[in-house]
Amino acid sequence: MNADLVLLNGKIVTVDSQESVQEALAVKFGRILAVGDSDDIKPSIGPDTEVIDLAGRTLIPGLIDSHCHMMMVGANRLLTEDLSEEAGIGSIKDIQDALRLRAERTPKGDWVTGFQEDDSKLAEKRHPTRWELDAASKDHPVIISTVGGHFSMANSKAFEMAGVTKDTPDPVGGKFDRDPETGEKTGGLHEQAIQMIMTGAPVGPTREQSYEGAKQILKECAALGLTMVYDTVHQPQIRAVLDLKNNGELPIRMRMDAAIDLFPELHKLGIYRGLGDDWARLCGLKFFFDGAISARTAAVTEPYLDKPDFYGVMATTREIATETIMNAYMEGYRISAHANGDQAIAMFLDIMEEAQAKYPREDPRNRDIHCSVINPDLAGRIKNLGILPTIFGPYVYYHGDKLIPAFGEKRLEWMFAARTFLDLDVMISAHSDHPCAPYPPLMALHGLVNRTSKAGRPIGQSQKISVMEALKLYTINAAYHSFDEDRLGSLEPGKLADMVILDADLLSIPTEEIIDIPVDMTLIDGEVVYTK
Ligand SMILES: [Zn+2]
Repeated sequence: MNADLVLLNGKIVTVDSQESVQEALAVKFGRILAVGDSDDIKPSIGPDTEVIDLAGRTLIPGLIDSHCHMMMVGANRLLTEDLSEEAGIGSIKDIQDALRLRAERTPKGDWVTGFQEDDSKLAEKRHPTRWELDAASKDHPVIISTVGGHFSMANSKAFEMAGVTKDTPDPVGGKFDRDPETGEKTGGLHEQAIQMIMTGAPVGPTREQSYEGAKQILKECAALGLTMVYDTVHQPQIRAVLDLKNNGELPIRMRMDAAIDLFPELHKLGIYRGLGDDWARLCGLKFFFDGAISARTAAVTEPYLDKPDFYGVMATTREIATETIMNAYMEGYRISAHANGDQAIAMFLDIMEEAQAKYPREDPRNRDIHCSVINPDLAGRIKNLGILPTIFGPYVYYHGDKLIPAFGEKRLEWMFAARTFLDLDVMISAHSDHPCAPYPPLMALHGLVNRTSKAGRPIGQSQKISVMEALKLYTINAAYHSFDEDRLGSLEPGKLADMVILDADLLSIPTEEIIDIPVDMTLIDGEVVYTK
């Protein structure tokens, strides 16, 4: 049979079970027809076959980000102010200026919002206060969220509109920052306190913003070698994914975890994992246990080194978590839970042990999203329960320098514990959690392999893994997390032809240079979706 596409003379890293490296690959009807030596594959070249000469370049399976919020970020870019370092924000004054400009084109009384603020990237090395946000506008409610998404700051107008005063107590599962002397609220909002202030705020972007924003960011993903992302979705994002797919404009494949508050509606309709097709499919429900690593609010059992007596923040209670998860699990839903710190992970495992005992299920593939701070006991329980952790890929590199003072070097040896999990044969994958970190997948591989920060400092070196292992986390293991291992994640006959051409040899380049490897071309179903 003549192939539609043939790639010759390459170094094809198949990521098959033998970790074999081949020279050539043929594609027919969007699937891989054969892999082998160039001489074996050449006979499948016919008059209509497109031929790509790899000329020694490396071909790898399409890369998969196992947890992120691309759909939300895409829309947010159009809806709200980007306050990240990448957007040119380097000080509190920069934040004030950006918000002031947005306020000037926003009707008085309407919300002015910003996202991606990161205190560690500001000259002042702290978040702005409520009064500093008042300087941007006194006539608009202003709220900005941090890079971790679990901590926000609001101005006085926002507090006033929400009816929150000095005397308002902290909500369950949340906390207001206060001046230690006067008790006055200083603007900082943790977890449920964010919801209290945001009552009345517009819930989200328009359908057009969701569509256009998603299309743009997913195209950027393809240019970085991502052929699939596993996103967390609410109604607007599900809608945008389907709008894009139905118009034939979805740039890459999507897998989705729906927010668990959608469980009653989904269950009423009989919708659970499996709805969709190879381009977009629902996989599970997402539940939230605790704070963020990048904001240093993950719920841990030993206090943060730079904040005495601070153990992070839980975003739920044991009772609420048990009831919510048990209801969904009983009905056959797969649970993906955000559990970052060892305190939160232990609670998640307690609940899943009970859930599995009450409602045993074969091959449940429940996931711990992040699973950042562990210990030998938790690792053993994860192994026994068959939980799939998906860990942060780019964090060591991108956030590493601020993690050292917060967690200390000893605990960093037990964070993002790729080596520990692989040695236990636990099927881990990795992710960017974008917007919590940048999403170039090669930055993630770089972080997982080198375990050094941007400034070059070692971060938990005992958890280093090999390049091939890191590649598996972003390919075949990620495919397993979305029940796609029979059709994605490696370059083997019969699988969908998702592949990336790299302009350097990933397996032999000095590992410090992985982050800089250029992506030459990205293909999905054997079709070029990006070319340099
Ligand atoms: Zn997330």
